This record gives sequence, structure tokens and C-alpha cells, in this order.
Amino acid sequence: MDILVVGSVAFDSVETPFGKVEEALGGSATYFSTSASYFADVALVAVVGGDFPEKHVKFLRDKGVDLSGLKVVKEGKTFRWKGRYEYDLNQAHTLETQLNVFSEFKPVIPENQRDAEFLFLANIDPDIQHEVLEQARNPKFVACDTMNFWIGGKPEALKRVLKRVDLFVINEGEAREFSGEASLVRAAKKILDMGPKILIIKRGEYGSLMFNGSSVFSAPAYPLEEIFDPTGAGDSFAGGLMGYLASTGNVSDENIRRAIILGSVMASFNVESFSLDRLSALDFKDIKTRYSEFKRLTHFENM
Ligand code: AMP
Repeated sequence: MDILVVGSVAFDSVETPFGKVEEALGGSATYFSTSASYFADVALVAVVGGDFPEKHVKFLRDKGVDLSGLKVVKEGKTFRWKGRYEYDLNQAHTLETQLNVFSEFKPVIPENQRDAEFLFLANIDPDIQHEVLEQARNPKFVACDTMNFWIGGKPEALKRVLKRVDLFVINEGEAREFSGEASLVRAAKKILDMGPKILIIKRGEYGSLMFNGSSVFSAPAYPLEEIFDPTGAGDSFAGGLMGYLASTGNVSDENIRRAIILGSVMASFNVESFSLDRLSALDFKDIKTRYSEFKRLTHFENM
């Protein structure tokens, strides 16, 4: 196993101007592991309720995800998230968050997974992220995601986690809210001061920006004609990025830039359908072809 992820496994009900789904498989850890599974071996730590169907467990298992850290609380209900997107698909509007079994969850990393070199703290309660950090033994590279729900709800717990991560990924709006700065450059400086060595600000259809204190890298998003559902784009991005880093074992600046493009590739596939429909049905050839298209998209000669 190369990557250990903790995060939500959920039922998502999502509405966009192009359609809607009720109680589809979702969750930050689900999108992340599906995306990362194309590159590396992933083990997932999370909790679901007795209402979580076997077909979803099978889906993740068929992707090769190690589920020995997935706890089932038979008498509890799975996490649920309800969201809506307007025509500006960059902005998710949360209508409802039901933590359910996550409100009491104390993660326990199986003994054989505590030495994972790559650790991803996907969007979930920062106290749960911290608990996982405490149990991990000397990971080589730790990355972390979050969202406004936790920035507003548990800012101090989040700051405690950030002191110990190498990479923090966050949405543009959330970076502004968290730092209290309108300028992304200033926001990045403030957030890097909280501890992470690298910060990636995700900007939806405008791509992403990476700051590491000495350089900035800008990656575009793939110009898609049709976007159905942006849910999980951030987690698919992180899955491609961490999956590639883990598969190469190389966390140099140059390799992180490649990994960011692979993250963008995976996010671009994910938004082409609702839930995990497109992301789960890829061929590695599709990934390589789109990576080359990204290269052409951003390449230009010296003047
Ligand atoms: P994103 O990649 O940012 O679009 O993440 C979308 C996923 O995050 C959805 O599948 C949701 O189930 C999940 N999610 C939404 N709110 C929360 C929350 N407060 N904590 C953990 N996961 C969440």
C-alpha cells in the first residue's frame, strides 16, 4: 500500500443546471481513492452506516482500494451531503450536511498501514485528521484538504493539523475566507505561515496555483465543452496528484508540477458525469492522452 487516506464516504444528493442525483455514492475519500487507484495502491480509513450498500463496498474493492480501515456502524447512518450548483459551477452551495456516523468516529489505522509513506487527510473533521496523523509513523509526505464547513466550524483544530502537513490544498474562496485576504498571493503567504510547505489553491475552471514560498506554478483546467457535475473535482485532483507522487516516490518541485497536471487531468474527467461514473471507467491510455493535451495547451516557445 502506497497511500493512506482518511476522509468522508458519503451519499451525495446534487443538483446542477444539467440534472440531479439523489443519494449517489460520494465523499472526499471515495473520489480521492478512485482517482489515486489508477496510479498507486490506496488504503482508506472511514466510517459508514448499516445503510451503506454492498455494491458500493464492491465498487471500491474492485478499484483495488484496501478497505480494512473502513468501519461499519450497523445501527448508524452514513454521512450525507446535499449540494447545489448554479451556472457558476465553481461554487458549491451546501444545502445540508448530516455527519451521522462521523460525529462519533474515532479512526483506527490498521497496524500494517501505519507506515504508509504518503498520507492524505481528505476533507473531514480536522480532529479526525489529527487523530490519523497521531497514529501514522513517520510519513514521507502528508497532504491535507478541507472546506468552509470546517474552516468556519473548527478553525483552531484545522490550524493544529496544518502545522504538520507538507501540502495543503484548498479552494480559492476558502483560501480567501481562511486568510481574510482578497489577494491570493497574500492569502498564500498567510496560509504558508501556518505551517504547510506547499499550498495549492484550486480555482475550478480557471485551474490551480501552487505556492511553495520560493516559486509559483500555474496550471490550467482542461477546457471542456460539457461539465455536468463538479462534485468531487477537488478530491479527484488530489487523487491524481498524490497517486502520481506515490507511484514515483519523488516529491521534488519538478515532479510536483507533473503531479499537479495529472491531478487536473483526473479532475477534468470527473466533472464530465455525475457521481463517479466517468472517473471510475477510465483507461490509463485516456489519462496519458489528456496529459499530452495539457502539455500542448500550455506550451509556448521563447520570443
Ligand atoms: P469536492 O472535491 O470539494 O467537490 O468534494 C465533494 C465531496 O465532499 C462530496 O462527495 C461530499 O460528500 C464531501 N463533503 C461535503 N461536505 C463535507 C464535509 N463537511 N466533510 C467531509 N466531506 C464533505
